[in-house]
Amino acid sequence: MGDRRKDAVVVIGLGRFGGALALELVREGTEVLAIDSRRDIVQRMAGKLTHVVAADSTDIEALRELGVQEFRRAVVAIGSDIEASILTTSLLVELGIADIWAKAMTKQHGKILERVGAHHVVFPEHEMGQRVAHTVQGTMLDYIEMDADFAMIKMVVPKSLVGTQLSGSPLRKKYRITVVAVKHAGGGEDFTYATAETVLQAGDVIYVFGRTEQIEKFNSEIS
Ligand code: ADP
Repeated sequence: MGDRRKDAVVVIGLGRFGGALALELVREGTEVLAIDSRRDIVQRMAGKLTHVVAADSTDIEALRELGVQEFRRAVVAIGSDIEASILTTSLLVELGIADIWAKAMTKQHGKILERVGAHHVVFPEHEMGQRVAHTVQGTMLDYIEMDADFAMIKMVVPKSLVGTQLSGSPLRKKYRITVVAVKHAGGGEDFTYATAETVLQAGDVIYVFGRTEQIEKFNSEIS
């Protein structure tokens, strides 16, 4: 793989999450070394990924033989086997990987992963659950938590805001949230950045960013 290791990513665990992640990285042109202990999974992925090997990631010698220590980035996508997830993460720390991402099933699991040295912990099931909870009610088209306290939502302009110019709208003053981008209805055009002069029209789709509590308040009060 030559000088691969600067941008390349090691993905350990090719279940639903790790498999989708590895395929998406490859689709985007990133080189991936994919590892799973199950031969059937490795075989299934072999046609789709260039570098996929069967190995037990809790065995540091196996990782060394694969040259994992030469990579800068790794993702531990083992979920249900918490022991293997934690041990693998700690071995990657021991191998000096600079940027380790790990998937956690629960808060406690996430805490331990952080303790052993994961640089980023993700909770895919939890985050997707939250996202669907917000969108299933039908008021939002999408909901993404950006940080512990901030969120971005995508929504159709609420009726009460149709015809309002952003500078004079209650969004900033009352809710302290910001419309970031607007896609005008029927225009077929892309999103444009919102400005103070933007006038919201019926059917427009907007992206709104702000503190989670303010976003929730806005969503429940405005219709
Ligand atoms: P998902 O919910 O995303 O499908 P799983 O936890 O079910 O995640 O899948 C994790 C994957 O990690 C499985 O394919 C499993 O074979 C693999 N795995 C588990 N333990 C190890 C290990 N020690 N070394 C390498 N791969 C492992």
